[in-house]
Amino acid sequence: MKIKFLGGCNEVGRSAVLVDDKIIIDYGMRPSNPPEIPLRSESISPDSVIVSHAHLDHSGMVPSLMSQAKPPEVYMTPVTRDLTRLLGRDTIKVGRDQGFVFFGEEDIMKLDEYTHTIAYGERRTLNGSDYELELHNAGHIPGSSLVHLRKESEDMSLLYTGDIKTGPTRLMESASPADFPASDILFIESTYYGRDHRDRVELEREFIDSIKETLNSGGNAIVPCFAVGRTQEVVMILHSYGLTPYVDGMGLSVFSIFKNHPSSLKDAEALNNAFGDAQFVNSKRRKKAISEPSVIVTTAGMLNGGPVLYYLKKIHEDPKSKVLLTGYQIEGTNGRMLVEEGCVEVDGAVVKVNAGVEYYDFSAHAGDSELKKIVSRFCGNGTEVVFMVHGDHTEEFAAWTRDKYGCEAIAPNNGEEFIIE
Ligand SMILES: [Zn+2]
Repeated sequence: MKIKFLGGCNEVGRSAVLVDDKIIIDYGMRPSNPPEIPLRSESISPDSVIVSHAHLDHSGMVPSLMSQAKPPEVYMTPVTRDLTRLLGRDTIKVGRDQGFVFFGEEDIMKLDEYTHTIAYGERRTLNGSDYELELHNAGHIPGSSLVHLRKESEDMSLLYTGDIKTGPTRLMESASPADFPASDILFIESTYYGRDHRDRVELEREFIDSIKETLNSGGNAIVPCFAVGRTQEVVMILHSYGLTPYVDGMGLSVFSIFKNHPSSLKDAEALNNAFGDAQFVNSKRRKKAISEPSVIVTTAGMLNGGPVLYYLKKIHEDPKSKVLLTGYQIEGTNGRMLVEEGCVEVDGAVVKVNAGVEYYDFSAHAGDSELKKIVSRFCGNGTEVVFMVHGDHTEEFAAWTRDKYGCEAIAPNNGEEFIIE
């Protein structure tokens, strides 16, 4: 099997792996301004594309592959298909504002036409080839999948974790490593290598206490969230503690898609109830939402655009207000600048933020011990080659795996190619 890494190595963003020059697993973008995209040469024209899940850093550039003379067949879960379509259209819109064009509406239509949806555990032969595909629940966001690909002629298989969560969240049933199929090659995400997550219940309580304190002092609590997954998780948390948030941005459209796929959720009723009680904001109601003490859940999670910028402009000088970050802030984003320098860019100007800034790790990724358990399970089950991707500390993770299990563990670089026999 020939493996080439087109992105997502030693970084979080633009994940993309090319298998045997004809299959692409994930084709994402790094949501910086302008977005960074995977390596691409004209010679790459995949027959098949597999999408692990709908976050932009895994799916964002998939529509661009549809412009080749013969578009590839695309495989993903039904929820991932619906979300990829929604995010694709949003990317076209954002591109119009920011001055980039990666694909157009005709590519979104082709993506619909060439997509084969696949359920967890269902086996599919890829596009008349000798590769057999199976997806399994990755526990990360609705529709997220581990990709298991088996090449019959070489009797060789790979398992690609995509983004994975084996611990509990309100939104998702966790992934279950005991049910993962064995494989010769493992690709594992490394986002939280070296860091474990805090106890979820304790974390939720601190988050809620901080919001209540902000409301009591007359401030606004701004909770920037990714539209896909985090917004819904946070609205469920707030609802369970009796708080009614305003919800602004694309998180509402995403909720409508989740609602159409209840079996992809841990508790569809709890999600429906939480959104049933929330108040939705569009550009006309923003002024009202911010004019009273309020909690506002809004996109974008890394402050790189979207309605959150409106709220930041309003509250950045107010020490009674707070920005409560809920996810990893990748390099090059406005959110990372806020964490590291206490400033954000709004309307082209960098402003100091006097409001409080707090970080709550509601991550939907496996923490350090969960990642190590996954590696341990695979290495103890015949896996000979492990690639560490999607993280800032992949080399350390690979070294740990080599020391501990003696298997071939590699932290690849973007553009690097490997032949596995
Ligand atoms: Zn993800």
